[in-house]
Amino acid sequence: MITNPVKRPMVLKARLPLPRPRNIGSRRPRWGPLGAARVTLPAVSRSYHVTTFGCQMNEHDSERIKGMLESLGYAEAGSRSDADLILFNTCSIREAADSKFAAHLGEAKRIKREQPGTVIGVGGCWAQSVKEEVFARFPFVDVAFGPGQVHKLAEFLTSDSLTAQGFFEFEGFTGHLPAKRARDFQGWVQISVGCNSVCSYCIVPSTRGREVSRQPGELVEEIRRLADDGVREVTLLGQNVNSYGRDLPRDCRITFSELLRKVDAVPGIERIRYTSPHPKDMREDVIRAHAELPALCEHIHLPLQSGSSPVLKRMRRTYTRERYLDRVALIREHVPDCALTTDIIVGFPGETEADFAQTLEVAEAVGFDGAFTFIYSPRRETEAATMPDQVAHEVKVARMERLVEVIQRRARERAQRFVGRTVEVLVEGPSRNDPSRLRGRCRHNKVVNFDGLGEPGDLVNVEISAATSQTLSGEASLLARAAG
Ligand code: SAM
Ligand code: SF4
Repeated sequence: MITNPVKRPMVLKARLPLPRPRNIGSRRPRWGPLGAARVTLPAVSRSYHVTTFGCQMNEHDSERIKGMLESLGYAEAGSRSDADLILFNTCSIREAADSKFAAHLGEAKRIKREQPGTVIGVGGCWAQSVKEEVFARFPFVDVAFGPGQVHKLAEFLTSDSLTAQGFFEFEGFTGHLPAKRARDFQGWVQISVGCNSVCSYCIVPSTRGREVSRQPGELVEEIRRLADDGVREVTLLGQNVNSYGRDLPRDCRITFSELLRKVDAVPGIERIRYTSPHPKDMREDVIRAHAELPALCEHIHLPLQSGSSPVLKRMRRTYTRERYLDRVALIREHVPDCALTTDIIVGFPGETEADFAQTLEVAEAVGFDGAFTFIYSPRRETEAATMPDQVAHEVKVARMERLVEVIQRRARERAQRFVGRTVEVLVEGPSRNDPSRLRGRCRHNKVVNFDGLGEPGDLVNVEISAATSQTLSGEASLLARAAG
């Protein structure tokens, strides 16, 4: 654990002093959206603590935040109370995420009362959704920034500004910022930001704005750099990855499947994943790419949301139950063994027992390998929040239990197809329940716990002997051990 060796004296002055790296002078870094700052700053004994809520996009932004802070001379602290800079990268997709964050913010407030020099920052979607209001509601917050504003945090920390500041205009991608990856051999790459869909329950279009795709050349360059740095698996991120490219200038416009081909061609990249595609944009060329590209994994996360066409219509998902099932059939035709996972919302306004029964039917029929299931949560300024016939909480909870039973049973049944097979596992480290075993993921994105030898980042062939709804279990194959 890295602790903060030098605690600043308590100065009871609003927002003073900021934990700025000393001796920067005129060499202040500027991370604009286009130009990458590469200024080496003197080491300083400042520390940060980042708490991340929500999706992989946020996890990825936090890697950028950490990388950027470390190039400013900050070190990661083991706990909030040891940090000079306490940051929250927030989510606002569901109400539960908001209230969880509010509780953590209360702890930060207490720390700041005891150590007034501590700087508190709030970034991400929740910050974007409330904007300047954050300072009125939480006067102890020093800096707030939206998802497209990560680089502004560095400018704030290295500026002479003594007043609280908010940065909320989207300016660019974080791709040029340094990143502190959680695992050396896995990298996330944001291919687009924002979303042009208008799903009536979703706050994302208002927090992350219209869809903007990154230039393919820039993406391939970033992935090459990751591969040179030891990354074997990349996950392409976007709110709707498979509508990628439509907004690009004509001279560099390519489709999502063409981008997949370019990534597949990068030497050293052995696994490609992406999340999330939208069923309305899941075309045959993307599905075929799964059958044709060696690095593209046999797993598709295809959010269903509801199995009832009338509910899908009110959700403004722009596909029907039949179109969804047709996409599943096409996937299974081209890649019969492909793992399918999904997102499902229960208790959307007006969802009747008959609508819900249709969701259960689709879950039974498809047999998902896994699912994220959500209780519908009204979000401010979304169309669905004011729709009539909001479903009672007890009804939502009861439906959720029934849905989880079907999802888990079908996932357990589907997982049995792996028993007796040998799967390739990318080792992540020791198993969580039994540290004498190893844990990793196979190409189908199932967690695999196994007996055998391997280092994080190794690819090991594992013979599967047992399967539950969530995990596979086995032993490194004799051949793999002989080769090792
Ligand atoms: N863009 C992706 C898509 O269209 O599937 C996912 C975005 S969202 C971060 C992840 C999931 O959160 C959604 O697929 C949906 O199931 C769920 N979600 C979004 N808004 C919600 C709400 N208001 N209540 C409950 N679940 C919600
Ligand atoms: Fe939200 Fe719909 Fe866009 Fe996904 S596609 S981010 S659910 S608006």
